[in-house]
Amino acid sequence: MFVEFFNELLNGKLIGFKCLDCGTVMCPPKSTCDNCKGRNLEKIELSGYGRVTSYTVTYVAPMGYEKEAPYVVALVELDEGPWIIGRLDVDAEKAESENLVGKRVKVYGKEFASELFYPNKEKRVVPMFEIVE
Ligand SMILES: [Zn+2]
Repeated sequence: MFVEFFNELLNGKLIGFKCLDCGTVMCPPKSTCDNCKGRNLEKIELSGYGRVTSYTVTYVAPMGYEKEAPYVVALVELDEGPWIIGRLDVDAEKAESENLVGKRVKVYGKEFASELFYPNKEKRVVPMFEIVE
């Protein structure tokens, strides 16, 4: 399921699940409902739009990601309700000098070099948020 999620993300599509019992929407996909623990889930395509709820600039990256720092990690509330984590597509300076909380964003997938944790040359796809307003 996660492979499909990331492949679709590279195609610009954001996949989630909707619980057919209680209506809760989840993203990224999970095997049980966050709300009622039900397993009666339907795959749906989300709009990919949401708003930045918080973000932080990472200067000291975890092992394996050093070359990518600094980067901006953001928590976004999607229009359909779920909150997802990804990277904000702005440089560290802009993120530090402007308040980007509340900005409207669109999600897309970006493929990063796979090194330390992806020795089998699997794709490493990161959700990215592009500011659209
Ligand atoms: Zn449910």
